[in-house]
Amino acid sequence: VVQRQVDARARVIGAEVLVRWNHPVMGMVSPARFIPLAEDTGLIVPMGRWVLASACAQIARWRGRAGLSDLTLAVNVSAREFRHPGFVDHVLRTLDATRIDATRLKLELTESILADDVDAVVRSMSALKARAVQFSLDDFGTGFSSLAYLQRMPLDQLKIDQSFVRSVVTSAGDASIVRTVIALGRGLGLEVIAEGVETEAQRAFLADSGCDRFQGYLFGRPVPVDEFERGITAD
Ligand code: MN
Repeated sequence: VVQRQVDARARVIGAEVLVRWNHPVMGMVSPARFIPLAEDTGLIVPMGRWVLASACAQIARWRGRAGLSDLTLAVNVSAREFRHPGFVDHVLRTLDATRIDATRLKLELTESILADDVDAVVRSMSALKARAVQFSLDDFGTGFSSLAYLQRMPLDQLKIDQSFVRSVVTSAGDASIVRTVIALGRGLGLEVIAEGVETEAQRAFLADSGCDRFQGYLFGRPVPVDEFERGITAD
C-alpha cells in the first residue's frame, strides 16, 4: 500500500510505500511485528529487494501519465539492508533495468544506520546520490542522533517522527522539539516532512513552524496503488 505525501497547498507530491503482510491465517500482520522478525532472520534483504523493484516498476508505469509522472515514491530501507554489501549495486541495477528517472525514488533511512561505520554509510549514499537517488532521514529525533554526522550525509529531507507530531499541540516539549527539528533541517538546506499528521491543528502548527511537506491520515490513509492513482487522477 502507499500513503500520500502533500505540499503546503495539499497537492500530492508523492507517496511512501508501506509493506503489509496479509497472512493466510493471522490476517493482516502489522509491520511493527513482522519487520523486526524479518530483520532478525535476514529475510529483510530479499523482502527489501522486492519492495525496491516494485517501487521502481511503479515509477516506470507512471512515466508519461498526467499527474503521476512527477511523483516521488519513498521506500523504507532498514539498517541491515543498507549495510548489506550488495545493496548499492542492487539499487543501481534496478535503476538501469527500469530506466526510471532516479530523482523519483527516495530512500528513507533511519538514524540507526549511523551506528555503523559512518564513512562506509556516506560512501554508499554518495554512490547512489551520484545517480540522483533522493534520501530522507526517517523517524528523525528518536534514534542515534549525532548532529555532526547529519551534515556529512547527502540527505535531501528530514522526516519528523510521528511520536512528536502526535502531541505537537498538547505538549510544549514536543512542540519545541518539532520547531527545533524544522529549523535544523532548513538550516542544513533540507526539506522537512512531518509524518502522522492527523488533525488540522497539527498541520497548522507545523506549517507555521516552517514545515511544508506532510503525510498522515489528515491527507489520506495508506491505500492500494490503484486507489491512490484514482485519487490523483480525480483531483
Ligand atoms: Mn518511513
